[in-house]
Amino acid sequence: MIASHLLAYYFTELHHDHVQKVDKFLYHMRLSDENLMDVSKRFRREMDKGLGRDTNPTAAVKMLPTFVRSTPDGTETGDFLALDLGGTNFRVLLVRVSSNGKQKVEMENQIYAIPENIMRGSGTELFDHIAECLANFLEKLGIKDKKLPLGFTFSFPCQQTKLDESFLVSWTKGFKASGVEGRDVVGLLRKAIKKRGDFDIDIVAVINDTVGTMMTCGYDDHHCEIGLIVGESLSYILRQLDLVDGDEGRMCVNMEWGAFGDDGALDDIRTEFDREIDAGSLNPGKQLFEKMISGMYIGELVRLILVKMAKDGLLFQGHTTPDLLTTGHFQTSFVSAMENKKSGLVSAEQVLRGLGLDPSPEDCVATQRVCQIVSTRAAHLCAATLAAVLRQIRDNKAAERLRTTVGVDGSVYKNHPQFARRLNKMVRLLVPDCDVRFLRSEDGSGKGAAMVTAVAHRLAKQHAERQRILNTLRLSRDQLLEVKKRMEEEMNRGLAKKTHATATVKMLPTFVRSTPDGTERGDFLALDLGGTNFRVLLVRVRSGKRRSVEMHNKIYTIPQDITQGTGEELFDHIVHCIADFLEYMGMKGASLPLGFTFSFPCHQTRLDQGILIKWTKGFKASGCEGEDVATLLKDAIHRSEDFDLDVVAVVNDTVGTMMTCGYEDPQCEVGLIVGTGTNTCYMEEMSNVELVDGDEGRMCVNMEWGAFGDRGELDDLCTEFDRAVDDQSTYPGKQRYEKMISGMYLGEIVRNVLLDFTAKGLLFRGKLSERLKTRGIFETKFLSQIESDRLALRQVRSILQHLGLTSSTCDDSILVKEVCSVVSKRAAQLCGAGLSAVIDKIRLNRGLEKLSITVGVDGTLYKLHPHFATIMRETLRDLAPNCEVTLAQSEDGSGKGAALITAVACRLRDAGK
Ligand code: ADP
Ligand code: MG
Repeated sequence: MIASHLLAYYFTELHHDHVQKVDKFLYHMRLSDENLMDVSKRFRREMDKGLGRDTNPTAAVKMLPTFVRSTPDGTETGDFLALDLGGTNFRVLLVRVSSNGKQKVEMENQIYAIPENIMRGSGTELFDHIAECLANFLEKLGIKDKKLPLGFTFSFPCQQTKLDESFLVSWTKGFKASGVEGRDVVGLLRKAIKKRGDFDIDIVAVINDTVGTMMTCGYDDHHCEIGLIVGESLSYILRQLDLVDGDEGRMCVNMEWGAFGDDGALDDIRTEFDREIDAGSLNPGKQLFEKMISGMYIGELVRLILVKMAKDGLLFQGHTTPDLLTTGHFQTSFVSAMENKKSGLVSAEQVLRGLGLDPSPEDCVATQRVCQIVSTRAAHLCAATLAAVLRQIRDNKAAERLRTTVGVDGSVYKNHPQFARRLNKMVRLLVPDCDVRFLRSEDGSGKGAAMVTAVAHRLAKQHAERQRILNTLRLSRDQLLEVKKRMEEEMNRGLAKKTHATATVKMLPTFVRSTPDGTERGDFLALDLGGTNFRVLLVRVRSGKRRSVEMHNKIYTIPQDITQGTGEELFDHIVHCIADFLEYMGMKGASLPLGFTFSFPCHQTRLDQGILIKWTKGFKASGCEGEDVATLLKDAIHRSEDFDLDVVAVVNDTVGTMMTCGYEDPQCEVGLIVGTGTNTCYMEEMSNVELVDGDEGRMCVNMEWGAFGDRGELDDLCTEFDRAVDDQSTYPGKQRYEKMISGMYLGEIVRNVLLDFTAKGLLFRGKLSERLKTRGIFETKFLSQIESDRLALRQVRSILQHLGLTSSTCDDSILVKEVCSVVSKRAAQLCGAGLSAVIDKIRLNRGLEKLSITVGVDGTLYKLHPHFATIMRETLRDLAPNCEVTLAQSEDGSGKGAALITAVACRLRDAGK
């Protein structure tokens, strides 16, 4: 009866007038889109202030760290307990999480009362009571003898210091137990349980209900990174962020955004009613934003407005009633009821009558309008702050568009008929470049605590498993000393005639006996084969006052099918390139002395001869092994009948490196390469070089140390990943030391570790990408990029995205970085251990207490990796403490060095004539 009467009225002019009357009266409560955008911007500044170390103490929005660093990935499993204190009820829960195929969560829960006298009694009583309830629950389920992990939802303002340590700042929501403020609540609970002694549990995490909301939704939707609660007493939000001080990763932050405005930031939009509510509250001047939006205040705001309008004669014919004048008598649920599209007006009349009023139809319409304005403002303010959070996350990720999910809980959001829709709509309007999904969270404070615990449990287990695997790639000092010792032994075996044949480190004589003396001069050609590029060079060496080296070079590619074809094809191709170069330099037909940098293991009996022992580094041209490469080159030159060259020296790139560096620094008597491959040469006493007659002076020995380990000397250090890389290589079983150190392999080792981690579900959520399965896809240069200290984590992520690992998370990036650094550290340490054997041998050869020596180093890995040189230097200092080693970068040893060797040889030859 009343209904049809009201409904008829609803469409009249009069109705419109009454709405307008209210709108005019509440003009200040109705915020425009511009107002809201402005609030959003202000809030973003507040967030920054809260996050900054220096600005935090004075910030209103505290942005508290929660120590929750990861959201569920769906593989969590096990039984978990949860306590929920600080919500409407105190509860104990058992949550079963199973991951077998379909994610499933089962819960048992029991609500316990907390009597008024305990809420306001002593802290000891309160925690004894909580422990008692827990004991009762465990007893009932028959699980008292199991030590289960427990998550504690404690929804009061806390200063959290660890995942399982949180200090209560101040009680709220009617709690007042003494002796708890300023104390760690986990400690208090542990103490209470221990005092009983009848059960034991493992308290893993203490969380706030918003964290629980985010985590619960995160279990169903991995994009969920924001938790929002708009409930009876609280409304705040959480998000994850990149930690400020360049720290790794992200952490969930409890924003405590209810305090927005406590420093006056919202004074211009607060109305007289907001001020009145605040003045009459338990905590005046505090939580001003919360007082504009949360369920605890919406009803009260409406009541204050109705009273004022009545007193102004705008409602109820100027009448008020004792009920209407009593704080708290207009509940927020009334607002929800009055805004129901169908039954709203009926409810309005019932509610107003319930308050002892005798409302006219106009009064009902006006009251409904007041409700709409108050609750709309709440939803829109909430949208403005949420928009700021979304923009911040988007900027953190440097993403054009953000796709994210907000987990929401709370009675206002869930029960109010219009709140959710208004919030969602306004968020989309304020941040059009975000795709936001709102997901209702079921029981965030119960299930969520269990989820945090489950995630912490999974992370701990996974962390241990990852470290167990990575530890196989970490070397102890004793292991490194052992490498040094074995290298020493192999060096001696390689030098000695008797053992040379079976030695892995071949210690090849190079017939280079002298470093440059500065009188060398002339034009020389150099060839550089065996590196990443094949090059032809013209080198002008000047002596005397104008002593200098000038170089021209041209890079040629050697197609894959030629490296794998016949030797004739390979050398014809080389000669073709030389001819092209001479023409390019305008020196067609010239006959110059030539140094041939040939960076593969060769037997030399003379400087101008090199018998290839075996191809390495992916070369496989047939008919070359066992042949003299100088002859192969000369034959090809004759075949071309184009020009003639005088092949003076066959040079290993390590020797070239040493010579180049030696041209500037006479102390340089070692050459080291860490590029595609790795190798070393040094000046050895002739008396030790048994393969060459004569005991006078020294000769440079090309160690070919890459083959160290080929008789099993490194087997006890090798991991499954080294074996995998070896198995997939061109020469399985060969160059085992090189395969643990050099650029051709480090990326592959990392890739194999990543594959293993992924297969075990420890990385990329267990999803194997096709690209990662591709050999060589993880180049060693990525190690340098990823390990660069200047690189933010999101750049690591973009490298991973480049590799097709698009769904990688922040945690994945951290782990990939760790894998890279473990692998490159091992490489640098192994290299340093080998080098320490070399320089200590030189020291002992010369009977010196102390040796000061320079090592000329070349190779892109050494030069561009951010930590390789440092780690190698540290290892050297540790393993060869009696040597003072200068590591000098050598520029273009294989080009310039080859020419210098040729020049020295020509000088000696001319002098001999
Ligand atoms: P080579 O040893 O073949 O003469 P380089 O010394 O230039 O030539 O080494 C090339 C190798 O260095 C490449 O095969 C690659 O593995 C590695 N590399 C290239 N760029 C980088 C980088 N930025 N950081 C580390 N290693 C790199
Ligand atoms: Mg090189």
